[in-house]
Amino acid sequence: MRLDDATTLRPATIAVAAGRGERAPGDPINPPLSLSTVSVGGGAEPPGYARDGTPTWAALEEAVGGLEGGTACAFASGIAAIAAVLDEVPVGGTVVAPRDAYSGLRSLLAKLEDQGRLGVRWVDIADTGDVVAALDGADLLWIESPTNPLLAVAEIPALCEAAAARGALAAVDSTFASPLRQQPLAAGADVVVHSATKLIAGHSDALLGITVAAAGSPLATRLVTHRTRHGAVPGSLEAFLALRGLRTLPVRLDRAEANAGELARRLAAHPAVVRTRYPGLPDDPGHARAAAHLDGPGTIVSIELADAAAADALCARVGVCVHATSLGGVETTLERRARQHGEEHLPPALVRISVGCEDVEDLWADLDAALAGP
Ligand SMILES: *Cc1c(COP(=O)(O)O)cnc(C)c1O
Repeated sequence: MRLDDATTLRPATIAVAAGRGERAPGDPINPPLSLSTVSVGGGAEPPGYARDGTPTWAALEEAVGGLEGGTACAFASGIAAIAAVLDEVPVGGTVVAPRDAYSGLRSLLAKLEDQGRLGVRWVDIADTGDVVAALDGADLLWIESPTNPLLAVAEIPALCEAAAARGALAAVDSTFASPLRQQPLAAGADVVVHSATKLIAGHSDALLGITVAAAGSPLATRLVTHRTRHGAVPGSLEAFLALRGLRTLPVRLDRAEANAGELARRLAAHPAVVRTRYPGLPDDPGHARAAAHLDGPGTIVSIELADAAAADALCARVGVCVHATSLGGVETTLERRARQHGEEHLPPALVRISVGCEDVEDLWADLDAALAGP
């Protein structure tokens, strides 16, 4: 079997095998960590410069592009990838975006709106009718699904179809699903964005973003041009680490998702927990849609406690779990999101738990003891 026959390969195999280049005896099996900013000239192509691309980015892009079914472009961060897509909106154009999207997207859109660069219509992304009603005359529909941290699940195929019918670009921030639980391009999206800082890199040690658009599409080319012009290029080490992380994403995700499902069930039954949000729970508002559109409910569980003080106390008391922001690492992290700047709209007692790969019984013992009090 040839590796470039990627259409016949299953995702876990692509994650492990893609982006390794030609096989010749004696070659290293991993792509190089390329630290050269220039390459030797004199060939058919103009001499290379690392702001245009490096062999290390190319390997990561081939692997993520293979999983998402398009052409990937790596950026310095998730937010840099998001900014590149927002730059597709014409001056004075309109963006339809989720009211409860990731705080960095909301603050960037608010800034662009303040500047008069574009207008924003905020919607409930789980309410398909609400979103479609806001699409007339829009230039870009921004979908985030599941959302961070309320875990709302969008009806991606219907939303993308409605956007296309109105000539609006449809973008999906698929960070929470990772390339293994959702393929938005196949569902009709024009572009997928990941904060590769999270599940893809997976070890809380590399900041990186990635876009994926249909192979050979003008949009895919424009995103690469945007990166070259605006300069939000990833570091080579970060790209190397993200690809190294991606190799184990299938096993990390299976483990962390199984842990998340078990913890969500136990937390939902815990007397100190007022509400548990997890699309894998049968009574979660996103459950039916997640079952239909996602290949798994993911690794994030959000819980609400009695009040903010109880939520802060939980975060302060854990010992195996880490009180930290961000998500998608091998280690379980948790934080009270409304404490973060820009997240004041969230329930004040909401704690977002990013479940990692530890033994679930140790995680449960830690959370159960921390919920019980000092
Ligand atoms: C973290 C995050 C981002 C931003 O990514 P960075 O790599 O931190 O710039 C974007 N979207 C979602 C859903 C995120 O969780």
